Amino acid sequence: MDEALYSIPQQLSAAAWPGRLIVRASDPAALVAALASENPERLVAVQLLSLTADSEPFDAWAPGLPVELIMRDPAGEFPLLYGHSNLLDNHPVRAVIPVQPGFGKAVKVALALDFAVRLEPAQPDPALVEELADSLGFYLHQATVSQPVEFFHGTLLGFYHGRPEPLWAVLDEEPQSLRYVADDGTESRYGRLAGADIRADSAPDAGLAAWIDRVLASAGECRSCEFLASCGGYFKWPRRDYDCAGVKRLFGELRAAAADLRRDLAAAPD
Ligand code: SF4
Repeated sequence: MDEALYSIPQQLSAAAWPGRLIVRASDPAALVAALASENPERLVAVQLLSLTADSEPFDAWAPGLPVELIMRDPAGEFPLLYGHSNLLDNHPVRAVIPVQPGFGKAVKVALALDFAVRLEPAQPDPALVEELADSLGFYLHQATVSQPVEFFHGTLLGFYHGRPEPLWAVLDEEPQSLRYVADDGTESRYGRLAGADIRADSAPDAGLAAWIDRVLASAGECRSCEFLASCGGYFKWPRRDYDCAGVKRLFGELRAAAADLRRDLAAAPD
C-alpha cells in the first residue's frame, strides 16, 4: 500500500498526522512560524488557498518545497498570479486551475510566468471541452511554453513512451493514498472523491488498478474505451452517464501529437 499522504489545514498540528503532508495555507507568515520545528522532509507541498495573501514569507523558507497556487475563479483571479512570481527563486510553483469558463486566460498567464499548471477538469461540458482543446493547442504548439500543463503533459508522455498512466495519477489524485483532513480534523477522501464509498478501504493494500475496477464497476463504457489506460475512468466520476465524446477527442489529439513527436525525432539527424 502506498504511504498515506494527508492534506491538512495549517491550523491543525502537523504532529497529529503521520507520514507525508500537504499543508493548506491562507496565512503564509503564520504557517512558516507554526512549522518552524517540524521536519521539513515530511512536507510534500504547500498549497496557498488565497491568492490575495502575501506569499513573501514563503520566498526563502524551505527551499525546493513545491508551492501550489490554488485558484477558485480563474477568469477573475488570473492577475493575482503576478504577485507570486518571486516564489520561483526558491520553489517549484504550480497553478491549480479549475476548468471553468474563461480558465484559459489563467493558463496562459501562469505559463508566461513560468509556473507549471495542474488543471482540474472535473466533467467538462461541451463548451469547456472546446476551451480545453484551445489550451491543448496552445500547450502543444506555442514555442514559448516551457512548463508542463497537467493532464496534457503526463498523458502525452504516456502515449510517447507507451506507458500510459491514469489521470488519477497524472493529476495527483490517487485515491488509495490521499486523505483530506477538514478544518475540524475530520478525515475523508480527497477532493472530488470526498463523498466516495470508502469501502475500498476494506482492501487496504489495493493499488490504483483495484480502486479503478471497484469505482467503475458500473461504468461499462470504460471497459471497451481505447483510452482506459490513460484515463482510468476519471471522467465517469461522479456521474456515470457523463458523455465522454469530447474528452476522447482530447485524448486522441494527445495520442496523435505523441506519434508526431516520435516521427519527428526518428527523422532528426543524429
Ligand atoms: S474517456 Fe470516458 S469512457 Fe474512456 S476511460 Fe475515460 S471515463 Fe471511461
